[in-house]
Amino acid sequence: MNPLNQLAHIIYPPRCILCNDFLWRAPFDAGDVSSSVCQSCLRGFNAIEAPFCTICGKPFNSDAIENHPCEDCLRTPPYFQAAYAPYRYEGPILEAVLKLKYGGKTFVADAMGPYLADFARMRFMPEKPHIIMPVPLHPKRLRERGFNQSLLLAKAVTAKLNGKLDFLSLIRAKKTIPQTTLSKNERKTNVQDAFVLKNPSGVLKKNILLVDDVFTTGNTLNECAKVLMQGGAEAVFCVTLARAVL
Ligand SMILES: [Zn+2]
Ligand SMILES: [Zn+2]
Repeated sequence: MNPLNQLAHIIYPPRCILCNDFLWRAPFDAGDVSSSVCQSCLRGFNAIEAPFCTICGKPFNSDAIENHPCEDCLRTPPYFQAAYAPYRYEGPILEAVLKLKYGGKTFVADAMGPYLADFARMRFMPEKPHIIMPVPLHPKRLRERGFNQSLLLAKAVTAKLNGKLDFLSLIRAKKTIPQTTLSKNERKTNVQDAFVLKNPSGVLKKNILLVDDVFTTGNTLNECAKVLMQGGAEAVFCVTLARAVL
């Protein structure tokens, strides 16, 4: 760490981004969650561990089996190659996402983004993606919220991967209802044809890493991946902070 940062840490000792408690440890590697989250909050993070679906990342209950595609993914293969999240959407990570999304605590994205980049690289990205893209918000919702949490995460991921960010090619043309308020079938039709690719030549033959905050049913990511694949992308990988395990 450079001396200026060292000084800043003495004057303003780093605190946990979730509970605001001091982080009683020596800093810091970007990408190391424990440099932003205290040990007590970290213990509440529930990691998704093997065995899981190799496509949608859903964890299996039995640990006696190997990773393999789940029944849903075999029956209706998604457009994305893989969609993984490091954590189950519960406990402190759920609070972190809510803080980011509805509390405007945008530093959560800065803190978790580098970790997400490392996770994607180690867990499933075969090589550095050509482009990193956030799941877009509808312009009206963007005006209401003031920021797109997925874009903030994607920016932090891009910085860590030293990659190329594209947040303009894929747009959300249809204003959808928040997925969490809908039934399984409603969720599917809600996001259907919600996304449009503005610049197909930009995604042609590209490996794309799509970034979102939470994987709920996968419908939103799948719709984005559909548009990108139909636009000529080589492959779409998705990474989210957390995954709902239903
Ligand atoms: Zn904490
Ligand atoms: Zn699956």
